[in-house]
Amino acid sequence: MERLECEVLVVGGGLGGHVAALSAAEEGADVLLMEKQAEVGGSSVLAGGSFAFAGTDMQKERGIVDSEALLTQDLLEVGQGKNDPQLVAQYARSQLDAYYWLRERGVEFMSVQAASGQSVPRSHLANPRMVVDLLHRTAESLPNVHIVTGCAAERLVQGSESKRVSGVRARQGATEYLLEAARGVVLTSGGFGQNKEMIAAFAPGKEKALLLGALGNVGDGLKMAWKLGAGLRDMPYVKGTFGNFPETKVGQHLGLEAVYKGAIAVNKSARRFVNESLDYKLLGDACLLQEDAISFQILDQKVMDASIPGYTIFDFGRRLEQGLMVTAPTLAELADKIGVPAAQLEDTVRTYNEMVRSGSEDPFGRKHLTHRFGDLVEIDRPPFYAYPSVTGIVATYAGITVSPQAEVTDVFGEPIPHLYAAGEIMGGFHGAAYMTGTSLGKATVFGRIAGKAATRKAS
Ligand SMILES: Cc1cc2nc3c(=O)[nH]c(=O)nc-3n(C[C@H](O)[C@H](O)[C@H](O)COP(=O)(O)OP(=O)(O)OC[C@H]3O[C@@H](n4cnc5c(N)ncnc54)[C@H](O)[C@@H]3O)c2cc1C
Repeated sequence: MERLECEVLVVGGGLGGHVAALSAAEEGADVLLMEKQAEVGGSSVLAGGSFAFAGTDMQKERGIVDSEALLTQDLLEVGQGKNDPQLVAQYARSQLDAYYWLRERGVEFMSVQAASGQSVPRSHLANPRMVVDLLHRTAESLPNVHIVTGCAAERLVQGSESKRVSGVRARQGATEYLLEAARGVVLTSGGFGQNKEMIAAFAPGKEKALLLGALGNVGDGLKMAWKLGAGLRDMPYVKGTFGNFPETKVGQHLGLEAVYKGAIAVNKSARRFVNESLDYKLLGDACLLQEDAISFQILDQKVMDASIPGYTIFDFGRRLEQGLMVTAPTLAELADKIGVPAAQLEDTVRTYNEMVRSGSEDPFGRKHLTHRFGDLVEIDRPPFYAYPSVTGIVATYAGITVSPQAEVTDVFGEPIPHLYAAGEIMGGFHGAAYMTGTSLGKATVFGRIAGKAATRKAS
């Protein structure tokens, strides 16, 4: 067995791994970043690119009033109080610093929009592949960061008396490695969105959801941490995301959230079935319960005009160009094209418009475009559009317990010495539902905390 030594070992080369590795290196540690796949990037490079930050210069320039307090309130409200308030507080406290840390390293954010679970616009859009590439090149240029790809961690190594995690056993092709970390091991190996058995065990009823996370994300890190007694959090809330085009393949960017700009969602009977302002995990659940687990986002020209070129989930025009968005001059013709009853679609839209016009109560409880943001709009300006939408699991949002300092804790809440985690592998942060941008945000915020904390631990 080959041996390699470092001070901080980072397992998984997505955004969380790169941020943790750079943060540890900036503190002066010798860092080894290992990635199981041939290429780094994980789900991070597949993402839409929304990062949830509050109180930024970009928001201020646009007159958006946001704060740590409002972000905290939204996170706890969206998480239905099931999230760990200490992790939420840590995110809220640290996110602005994380935003400027990214900016200082050259990351460019292009736009700020309101999306799932946000009471003010706080989804800061960046190209996630460019973000990871940038951090990767920076890491490669540092003398104290070593990156290996095609090398999978298989087991954590723990002292039998001290319980201190001192490294991992790993495999690269036929070669077995003992990778030793004098200060700490950071798990940033992502979720289990590509592990069908784990999805079936933790998220029964999601069999019809597309699996859209990175192929390497099969729960390796979770299993390695469980073997050492790590706790579990948020497992009942593993959910899929609403708005994916049917038969989307891993790596395709076809998720669309026209509902947050004013569209409604109807099922194959052309009836609404949910409050469309809810976060897209809850919409994903509702969609899975419809006939054939499919629905259609119905929009008019006004919503189409709100399309934001380059902003994946709001780029309605791009979907039209791709031929994925169905269009027709009347609702009846649109209904015929998507195979739903025309009279019912007309009736559904008429009833919805009357509700918006009169301000009367919506039977599904919709009051805003998204969460508590934006006024409802009537669907009345032709032509009309329909986007076929199914549920896809893009991230698992649940996992091992960590302290606010990103220390992995065991089932009794005690830290497992020298073991840290950040990003999608963490449980406890989101709670019962989800705010757009908090996965990339969490990988950045807790990646920084984990990298620095692992470095500080004396050997
Ligand atoms: C289509 C899509 C759209 C999304 N859009 C958004 C969005 O707009 N905003 C947002 O906040 N979130 C979004 N997400 C979720 C977000 O991308 C992820 O939750 C986040 O990027 C996870 O970062 P990470 O660093 O924790 O994990 P990843 O980026 O997934 O990296 C984990 C890495 O660990 C590697 N690995 C796994 N096991 C091992 C092992 N045993 N040894 C070594 N390496 C290992 C994997 O191969 C992978 O490269 C989206 C996800 C998808 C798929």
